[in-house]
Amino acid sequence: MRNYFIAGNWKMHKTRAEAADLAKALAAELKDGKHKYLVAPSFTALETVGAVVKGTNIMLGAQNMSSEEQGAHTGEVSVLQLKDLGVEAVILGHSERRHTYKEDDALINKKVKLALRHGLEVILCVGELLEEREAGNAEKVCETQTVEGLKDVSAADLARVTIAYEPVWAIGTGKTATPEDADAIHAYIRGVIGKLYGDDAAENIIIQYGGSVKADNAAQLMAKENIDGALVGGAALKAETFVPIAKFN
Ligand code: PEP
Repeated sequence: MRNYFIAGNWKMHKTRAEAADLAKALAAELKDGKHKYLVAPSFTALETVGAVVKGTNIMLGAQNMSSEEQGAHTGEVSVLQLKDLGVEAVILGHSERRHTYKEDDALINKKVKLALRHGLEVILCVGELLEEREAGNAEKVCETQTVEGLKDVSAADLARVTIAYEPVWAIGTGKTATPEDADAIHAYIRGVIGKLYGDDAAENIIIQYGGSVKADNAAQLMAKENIDGALVGGAALKAETFVPIAKFN
């Protein structure tokens, strides 16, 4: 039985005071929530938000991290620094990292392994561009990103990995994959995990959907057999839009 996992990616939004206000509202409103929850503020607000969510049912996540443990890497943030702030999970391979900042599968895989080696949970994002979908390559793209992103990750470590299927054309655009289309890709990714790690791992892995998830489409998406949660961007920025998603039923 898989637990639903609802995560909010706050991207490059919010001052520390704004982030603290949102975290306080979520901590209060989700304290009786039934699912697994995570918020991922900017690096600058991690300490502030971490102090608010400590001891609650909301995990603290980061949106990215360096592929190197420490050293001369100007502008980067290391896994050790994230752990020092109480970070428990990190989002890796987000489409904005892949496409705007040109992160490739090899770099993402290096980050995935480093995060897992240091005990963090990982949300590994995969997803196709519109032209890739239109060319009939959505499955292939997601398969490659999954296989390459998880290269040399052990079955034991996979237990700390969540996959987020985020079709790039649906992120921040208001266009959502239909529940049926999303479920088909989720099922395909679950099959890829089965080929790599066996049936039990495939059955247990949490696969979130991300891409314009809102209160009014969350329940229909989550009702699908292979959709185990959501990675939410825009609607995660306000308690009144995130809480109904987090408390869907
Ligand atoms: C995201 O960036 O991970 C995302 C899903 O954004 P949005 O919900 O705004 O589409």
